[in-house]
Amino acid sequence: MTLVKAYAAQQADLPLGPFDLERRTPGPKDVEIEILYSGVCHSDIHTARNEWGGTKYPVVPGHEIVGKVSAVGPEVTKHQIGDIVGVGVFVDSCGHCTNCSEDLEQYCENGHSQTYNSFLQDKKTITYGGYSTHIVVTEKFVLKVPKNLPLEGVAPLLCAGITTYSPLRHWKVKKGDKVAVVGLGGLGHMAVKLASAMGAEVTMLSRSPEKAKDAGRLGAHHFELTTNPENMKKMAGSFHLIINTVSGQNDYNAYLALLKTDGVMVLLGAPPEMEKVSAGSLIRGRKSLVGSLVGGIKETQEMLDFCAEHGIVSDVEVIQMDQINEAYERTISGDVHYRFVIDMASLKK
Ligand code: NAP
Ligand code: ZN
Repeated sequence: MTLVKAYAAQQADLPLGPFDLERRTPGPKDVEIEILYSGVCHSDIHTARNEWGGTKYPVVPGHEIVGKVSAVGPEVTKHQIGDIVGVGVFVDSCGHCTNCSEDLEQYCENGHSQTYNSFLQDKKTITYGGYSTHIVVTEKFVLKVPKNLPLEGVAPLLCAGITTYSPLRHWKVKKGDKVAVVGLGGLGHMAVKLASAMGAEVTMLSRSPEKAKDAGRLGAHHFELTTNPENMKKMAGSFHLIINTVSGQNDYNAYLALLKTDGVMVLLGAPPEMEKVSAGSLIRGRKSLVGSLVGGIKETQEMLDFCAEHGIVSDVEVIQMDQINEAYERTISGDVHYRFVIDMASLKK
């Protein structure tokens, strides 16, 4: 065991603060990583504040991790000391259920181990996330980071990137498809970049007029304000696919009306309170309302390689560890351009 520095929430209504935790000594297949950057996902906030229920305090959030391998166990073959690697939303799974054998570890039938606020596969060791100087992860769940990308911009790919890439691939987005993205935050800005790189005609749907210029720079072909009822009416029946990344309560019926016949809206945003969906919103036009959870390890590597090929990273604002509480407030108020990333060297000082 090694004692490492971290930042934790001790209870829902308290700010995060310094916390020491023990990381295991690397086992035969383990990789120990010195964390360089850790992204700040809205899920970290939902969890730290117990908005979904079930938070195990103290909780150390962080599941968008980039770092340098500092030690490896004797049976590790995939990574070497000094390699730049990534860790995302989960750190293990059962490895033998149907979903695990089909590279869908995120839907492990026996319960995958999330990077924080979860249990390892022994079902008793609590996991602690990336707001810390080091982490130890079994090699299969450690990703190779392509060499040509700036590392602070890579960190958010490990959650925001794969969470948006996976449904775009699953629903087979191709050149010319009309895709709308709701909510221009961490997930939303990655959805815009990835969908436009796949050749889609992308419309950004936002409640924030000041984000219009950025949406265009990120690759959106159109920007529409969701707060304007005339705009919403004009877009009825327009889209093949809607990627909904909104973190708070929002009117799903209003967005379903914007789908073409057989259109699909994918819920990625996980507001603590769900809006009511009327059957008519789905029946008229044979529409689908579906959800999607991050992406498997193989697909995450594919996404990182796709980003390297297309020169895609997240637009980030790098912060020091002790600015985390302010970053949470700014994320909640929508003042994020478009992901906060913690420079983990600031925790070592
Ligand atoms: P974020 O950076 O805070 O972005 C969310 C965006 O949604 C905001 O920037 C804002 O965009 C819009 N928004 C927020 N509250 C709203 C409200 N009440 N009404 C209308 N629009 C609102 O959050 P994120 O990190 O991208 O995460 C988004 C959600 O996805 C969170 O709920 C998170 O837990 C979830 N998530 C899910 C997965 C998964 O696997 N499914 C993975 C990661 C995260 P505009 O200003 O443009 O309107
Ligand atoms: Zn996340």
